[in-house]
Amino acid sequence: MKKIMIDMDDVICTGGFLKIINEFLNTNYKEEEIKTYYIQDIIPENKKEEWKEYFESKNVYENVNLLPNVYETLEKLSKKYELYIATAYIFRDNPEKSTKHLKNKFNYLLKTFPFIKPEKYIFINNKELLDCDIKIDDKLSNLKGNAKLKLLFTAYHNKDISDEELLKENVIRVNNWNEILKILEEDK
Ligand SMILES: [Mg+2]
Repeated sequence: MKKIMIDMDDVICTGGFLKIINEFLNTNYKEEEIKTYYIQDIIPENKKEEWKEYFESKNVYENVNLLPNVYETLEKLSKKYELYIATAYIFRDNPEKSTKHLKNKFNYLLKTFPFIKPEKYIFINNKELLDCDIKIDDKLSNLKGNAKLKLLFTAYHNKDISDEELLKENVIRVNNWNEILKILEEDK
């Protein structure tokens, strides 16, 4: 069976991080207003210390939504492919406090996708190290390394990446899980 590496945040589920930031800042930012990959960069410098503590008390995955059709598509694909969820868990602003975030990710995956065994979760920062047939991620640099098929999942922060750049990197843009399914069906 072919191996697929699937990213978690903004490919499987979305919205949790921004919701916590909005609660913290008492704002109402929408995803489409954010251009940077690290959403927390919108937090003013003088609030950064307070933010670290606030974030630590929250569970991102109690506040996320699954992307449309992801559950059905993964269930379908799990019968034909080896699915691996590859996700980073280091909290950039406070790396030593990352274990709780890791636990929340693990528990969310366990509860949400009963057909993906925990042995298939890969908690990793440098995804370039992973060698598989297909990679799906919303961060272009995470698609580096070995894979025959590389899919960039459209997200708030990657809309400005041009088709030329994607072509150069041998990457195909996908906007939703139906498109992924279609490409994989043609890939046979
Ligand atoms: Mg992601």
